Amino acid sequence: MPQIIKGATSPSGARVTDDRVRETVAGVISEIRTRGDEAVRAYSEKFDNWSPASFRLTKDGIRSIVAGVPETTLDDIRTVQRNVREFAKAQRESIGDFEVETMPGVFLGQRNIPVSAAGAYVPGGRYPLVASAHMTIVTAKVAGVERTVACTPPIRGEIPAATVAAMSLAGADEIYLLGGVQAVAAMAVGTETIGRVDLLAGPGNAYVAEAKRQLFGEVGIDLFAGPTEILVVADEYADPFVVAVDLLSQAEHGPDSPAVLVTTSEQVARKALEHIDTLLPTMSTQDYAGPAWRDHGQVIVVADLDEAYTVADGFASEHVQILTRQPREALERMSQYGALFLGEGTCVSYGDKVIGTNHTLPTRGAARYTGGLWVGKYLKTVTYQEVVNTGSSAELGELCGRAARVEFFEGHARSGDVRAAKYAGADLPW
Ligand code: NAD
Repeated sequence: MPQIIKGATSPSGARVTDDRVRETVAGVISEIRTRGDEAVRAYSEKFDNWSPASFRLTKDGIRSIVAGVPETTLDDIRTVQRNVREFAKAQRESIGDFEVETMPGVFLGQRNIPVSAAGAYVPGGRYPLVASAHMTIVTAKVAGVERTVACTPPIRGEIPAATVAAMSLAGADEIYLLGGVQAVAAMAVGTETIGRVDLLAGPGNAYVAEAKRQLFGEVGIDLFAGPTEILVVADEYADPFVVAVDLLSQAEHGPDSPAVLVTTSEQVARKALEHIDTLLPTMSTQDYAGPAWRDHGQVIVVADLDEAYTVADGFASEHVQILTRQPREALERMSQYGALFLGEGTCVSYGDKVIGTNHTLPTRGAARYTGGLWVGKYLKTVTYQEVVNTGSSAELGELCGRAARVEFFEGHARSGDVRAAKYAGADLPW
């Protein structure tokens, strides 16, 4: 039995979307659906105290915002975008179109077609999440999406200049300073001034994630990428200070971000807890990290690494960091996670900010059924078929006639019958 040193063994309460969030989101979506731009403006004013003459930035506006961003920041953005682009390109190359001949002259094929328009939500309520612009926009462009619409909120009334620069450098075709449910709903259903998109991607807080969930169907979505989570698997070789620093690195995302330690070493657990107590007050983000750790922090001591992997898989956490002597072992032993970070040489922060794998990842257990955002999410895998051999078509026609009549589909059956008759002289049974 795992020993609980802090919190519970099961996923924390942050996983449940509360009714209040659900109702607020439904109300905003419904108003935007009926009142369009007028409602978008009203909610932007209400939730973000933000009502500029136009939410859309002009080319000149973007140029002057980017001009105010320090050159080193712009260089860093270019470097990170190159890393994201290289990985996304490798993903694109891994996805193949193909055609197979299954009977003489019967050709079945598959193609991957990019969606025409994608919406990129770049969070910015608490922090300017510059990196989310790389993750959504660069990836969409590598996939071949023609029109990419990007939205991000103002931060406490200020334009997030580095985020706008990242959106522009990534190749966004339209940039709006608009956040939350109003941005997501406007992109999904369209308004008088914002053309609707086919697919919405990007992380966000509980409101943003819930808005995407409610709009799914009417618009495609990437995945449920809500409040960030971290789970660290550590053995007795782990450095407790690194464990503590890394747990807090994700807790600071927001007061609803779970941070979980699963370790085979009670000593590592106790020391990491001590370090967290001393580190928290030194963090400028303690207002988020403190409540997150207090309410959603968990420390679980297990008997061995077998049990550690089983417990960790049970969480299906967004990020799993492996701080053990043989970190690669986790690749074979674990199957429920958004992204794995193997060994002390890397960390979730590298994934979040710089290394090139996508940081838009499944939360709240969604890692049980999906991976994170990638080039493939922007592609529609479609099929086609052609039959150029009349004998094969007649054979399929007879089969189709019989198969359709088992299901009482007379119309379907006749499409088969007519080919069997035309190409093989069979009698029409009607
Ligand atoms: P955000 O941009 O997601 O949300 C800000 C918007 O929320 C505001 O513009 C406002 O309109 C809306 N809002 C705030 N309070 C509201 C209320 N009471 N009612 C209705 N709308 C309201 O920015 P954020 O809040 O800083 O959150 C970013 C989130 O993204 C964090 O939770 C972080 O953990 C998460 N994240 C997730 C991933 C992932 O891949 N899963 C990656 C990065 C970040």
